[in-house]
Amino acid sequence: MSDHKPYLSVVIPIYNEEEVLPTLFKRLFPALDKTGKSYEVIFTNDGSKDKSIELLKEMQDERPAEVKIIDFNRNFGQHMAIMAGFEHVSGDVIVTMDADLQNYPEDIPLLLEKIEAGHDVVGGYRMDRQDKKWRLFVSKLHNSLRLKLTGVDMVDEGCMLRAYTREVIDRVVATGENSTFLPALAHSFSSNPTDVGVRHAAREEGTSSYNLYKLIRYNFDFFANFSKAPLEFFTMSGFIVAFISILLFVYLIVKRVIFGPDADGVFTLFAVAYFLIGMLLMGLGIVGEYIGRIYEEVRKRPRFIVREYLDTDQQKKPKPAKYIKDLEDSLDTEEAADKTAQKTTIKDKDSKEKEENTKKKDKE
Ligand code: UDP
Ligand code: MG
Repeated sequence: MSDHKPYLSVVIPIYNEEEVLPTLFKRLFPALDKTGKSYEVIFTNDGSKDKSIELLKEMQDERPAEVKIIDFNRNFGQHMAIMAGFEHVSGDVIVTMDADLQNYPEDIPLLLEKIEAGHDVVGGYRMDRQDKKWRLFVSKLHNSLRLKLTGVDMVDEGCMLRAYTREVIDRVVATGENSTFLPALAHSFSSNPTDVGVRHAAREEGTSSYNLYKLIRYNFDFFANFSKAPLEFFTMSGFIVAFISILLFVYLIVKRVIFGPDADGVFTLFAVAYFLIGMLLMGLGIVGEYIGRIYEEVRKRPRFIVREYLDTDQQKKPKPAKYIKDLEDSLDTEEAADKTAQKTTIKDKDSKEKEENTKKKDKE
């Protein structure tokens, strides 16, 4: 086992990327070699159903010193894959990037330069973003809302080519959060962040695993995690609607008193009732989203399960999920405590009996 600690750790999540992996390897390693720094690359296979894991293992055979593989037992999502990578990094500087070569591995030195200039988080922003129109639109909307609602000020939060110092990553790992927006989380722990323009290419092979639904979920997740604005919005609209309802109520009462009862306007009433019911349902939904998150956090289920960790330097076994280990530890100590407690009570009994016997004898 060699003890060398690399300067740079590159973390790459992999989900069904067999088509791009050969090109990725061909470009990534020469680009890293060129930096002249020592490095490791941690690939997390996020439950790929294709031959990605075989390709990764082949690469590891070729470069056993640099390549490390975390193999999930199923798909836990891109951000959990990166989080698992973060838990195993040993470098001083950590770079994340996508496997699909939409980011240029050749741009990594740009990020390193900024880190060396004293920044602790360097976000890449895609200068000429090559994505479908609707994706660009959603991103634009997201970016403008983000600053207003959450105060997280990043140029391009969706760009995964980013660099962090080890301190920032240690803080991210320490949160143990289920968060699906690591860039924003890391950004909130930084003291001197900066951004740098990077190139962006269209996905050459394979398909993006984000569809519209996933993207909506992502956006909702983001805002629910970083801000209480949806809840506050609901409270405020609740107030406004309640105020209007009071006016309406007064109006109806006055009308009833002056003009007597009337059956007209029933439909207006329906419209108002439906509107209110709609508001209520939406509000319940929003509250539910937050409660769902609280539920997930308090359950403390493992965020991901590692089937295998392949590191030729130190063939570690997969770590047991932390909570299982804690449970085992606490059981062990409880058992031990029980045994000593039993022993002392038995001892106590014995000694008491002896004492009593001696007392009796004394009396006799
Ligand atoms: N990815 C992952 N797990 C997933 C989805 C994606 O590890 O469930 C990886 C994927 O292999 C790629 C990166 O995350 O390296 C970005 O994924 P993708 O290109 O599909 O996203 P997009 O570029 O469209 O945002
Ligand atoms: Mg992509």
